[in-house]
Amino acid sequence: MQRIKIENVKILGCNVKVKYFDNLHRSDCDMGRCDSKMNIILVNAEMPEDVQRQTLLHEIMHKLSDDLSLNLTEDQVSALSVTVFGVLTDNAGII
Ligand SMILES: [Zn+2]
Repeated sequence: MQRIKIENVKILGCNVKVKYFDNLHRSDCDMGRCDSKMNIILVNAEMPEDVQRQTLLHEIMHKLSDDLSLNLTEDQVSALSVTVFGVLTDNAGII
């Protein structure tokens, strides 16, 4: 099922722009990146759709970590994002 690409997410009351890039135009990040100061999340558009959504959630976790001064490590961000993604996709009734 093809879903509409998310182009904006609201995080802690702030509008965060989601931009998609291809491998030709960026070489400084593989899957995604979060610029917390500029409220921009980048996602690699060449990945499968479910990986793009998982990456978006991963970058949202980075934004939350930055804004809430949680100082989560990359491993913690990865573990949380994969786990929350799995719970939400396996239990559609939660939200
Ligand atoms: Zn990360």
